[in-house]
Amino acid sequence: MKISEIFNEKKTVFSFEVFPPKKTSSIDSIYSKLDDIAACKPDFISVTYGAGGGGASVLTAELCRTIQEKYNIPSMMHLTCVNSSKESVEDVLKVIQEYKIENILALRGDIVPELPRQTDFMHANELVTYIKARGDFHVSGACYPEGHPEAESIVSDVLNLKKKVDAGAQHLVSQLFFENEMFYSFQEKARLSGITVPIEAGIMPVVNKAQIERMVTTCGASLPPKFVKMLTRFEHSPEALKDAGIAYAIDQIVDLFTQGVDGVHLYTMNQPDVARRISEAVASLRSC
Ligand code: FAD
Repeated sequence: MKISEIFNEKKTVFSFEVFPPKKTSSIDSIYSKLDDIAACKPDFISVTYGAGGGGASVLTAELCRTIQEKYNIPSMMHLTCVNSSKESVEDVLKVIQEYKIENILALRGDIVPELPRQTDFMHANELVTYIKARGDFHVSGACYPEGHPEAESIVSDVLNLKKKVDAGAQHLVSQLFFENEMFYSFQEKARLSGITVPIEAGIMPVVNKAQIERMVTTCGASLPPKFVKMLTRFEHSPEALKDAGIAYAIDQIVDLFTQGVDGVHLYTMNQPDVARRISEAVASLRSC
């Protein structure tokens, strides 16, 4: 099922993100968790794509296929292009077609100095155009409520985002954020720029200290005082920090549903208990 059809049916879509196991872990490490994650009945599940692609793309595609065939839940495959040639993207698209995956999140990917940069695709909008010319795929794109870290300003970032939508991106998924006002303000700018496609809000429950440190250095999300207070208060108690992080995410999601956003995309971090607790807390909201 194409994601655009889901948005036509639901007031607020509720979807999940999972990631394939690291090269050092067994593939079974995710399959054993998928039963519980799928039991939360998200509207669709997206699967991340390792930087550099290569063999990792097969794992991502296999997970997407399993999600669709075993659980009957639509999947969306992330696909990056910064380290890929047109030929290698073409090869991945053939696998995607063979596996009957209909939805692709087209991404540039982070520029990693250790990996050879390819120049066939400079930005995600070029990948969107390329995919659209090669099959009947639903194509989505990423967006950044606080601006992409490389962007000169939030305005130039939104104008670049418009190029991605004009190239054919039919739905956007946001980077994580901890202050809903940031998302609403970004959404307003996107609408003013003429972007009309559904925009899903990306929510990451913070459940341990290492995760926070990693996140702040990689995605640059700002931390509101209320959130920092919570971290400081509970940083020495893993259980309390997890409970508080889940409650914080639920609070954000309730507000997003109340404001009638197009969708909420939950970064599950492959943690079934976190996905379950949050899904249960917002279950009745999803049917309103
Ligand atoms: P782009 O849209 O190309 O934007 C990158 C920068 O270039 C921005 O500053 C933008 O303003 C600018 N720009 C865009 N288009 C143009 C243009 N035409 N001309 C000039 N400037 C332009 N990474 C992974 O490796 N694997 C994943 O699975 C993955 N999943 C993600 C899922 C989500 C929801 C998000 C938000 C990010 C994800 N990422 C993933 C990270 C992402 O790859 C990085 O944030 C990357 O740095 C930018 O990717 P993009 O597709 O947003 O790039």
